[in-house]
Amino acid sequence: MIRKLADLDLRDKTVFLRVDFNVPIDQGKITEPHRIDSALPTIREILQRAKTLLIASHLGRPDGKVQPKYSLAPVRDHLVRALNQAVILAPDCIGSDVERIVNDPANRIVLLENLRFHKEEEKNDRNFAQALAKLAEVYIDDAFGAAHRAHASISGMAEFFKIKGAGLLLQKELDYLSPILANPAKPFVTILGGAKVSDKIGVIKNLLPKVSLLLIGGAMAYTFLKAKGIAIGKSLVEQDKLELAAELMKEAAAHGVPLILPVDHVTGDLEKKNPATNDGSIPPQRLGLDIGPKTAVQFADAIRKAKMVLWNGPVGLFEVAPFDQGSRLLANTLAENYPRVVSVIAGGDTVAAVSACGVENKITHLSTGGGATLEFLEGRELPGIKALEENS
Ligand code: AMP
Repeated sequence: MIRKLADLDLRDKTVFLRVDFNVPIDQGKITEPHRIDSALPTIREILQRAKTLLIASHLGRPDGKVQPKYSLAPVRDHLVRALNQAVILAPDCIGSDVERIVNDPANRIVLLENLRFHKEEEKNDRNFAQALAKLAEVYIDDAFGAAHRAHASISGMAEFFKIKGAGLLLQKELDYLSPILANPAKPFVTILGGAKVSDKIGVIKNLLPKVSLLLIGGAMAYTFLKAKGIAIGKSLVEQDKLELAAELMKEAAAHGVPLILPVDHVTGDLEKKNPATNDGSIPPQRLGLDIGPKTAVQFADAIRKAKMVLWNGPVGLFEVAPFDQGSRLLANTLAENYPRVVSVIAGGDTVAAVSACGVENKITHLSTGGGATLEFLEGRELPGIKALEENS
């Protein structure tokens, strides 16, 4: 059992909130604040109920050393503007100076300095975890994107708290991702795309017993097509995964799951220019860069008939028009059938493809987890989730 924020007693307490504020920063300016903004509802709710809020995050890869360019100072500035309240940036994340700042009643919101300035964070060092835990009485984790890391602030420190639970963002991820593994509404259609089969093997294997239909597009489809003996021209292929692709097709058949591959393609020349449509096989000097129109219609039909759709990986080189058409049709079809069809989009590129269509508000859940989402869907136990589990 994992406690929800609403069920935690925060009255007169100091709360340690682990967030993922690993935002892109260029010359001291945050270029994309989405990760900070999406944690604001959790922050606001804690502020309504708790005495003091400590916010902790990593930023970049400072390799266990203090490096000013990885300071959370720009994040503090953003929080001050977003919350319209004072936010103190502590000079460190542990130690007596930090404790003094946290215990000063004048400081309601304290942002701890980058956790990764200490090498002990990534090593999940017990003493470091204890020093972090000493700062607060309640532990709340809202950093789903880092839940697959066994780091001190994500895994080790939770054991020192009697009161701990999930923030609103992490809770939402669990609410939408857990039913996919437990009991997906059928027909349950999974669409996989993106560059490589190798990244998706675990997900395919774990989901096969649960899916009604598996649609494969993107560059990864060409490894499957080549394994079937279909000419794929100069399309991206993982030569060393041909046998695996054949095995996965057999496994799908054994589960009675139709595994649908593209029947036509939008191809380009070696410079990824001069688009054309090719049925079936791909000519020798051309690359498959998107699912073709017939395939796109077939995939869209499957979406309309589904109750639940999981989509991970664009079905074409969506960053370059016109090879975005397949992914756009899928995003728009999901939006048109919202909310009847429950849609879960996983992975940064797929979220970007959906956002490029402007339909993010007509998708049930955009999972921000990246690696964490894939590991969750592979059925692996995530250290950050395990750390929050309590016996009910
Ligand atoms: P992934 O991170 O594995 O989900 O891969 C996403 C990337 O795969 C995106 O940048 C897509 O543009 C790219 N991609 C999808 N289909 C193709 C394709 N047919 N050829 C080349 N790149 C592709």
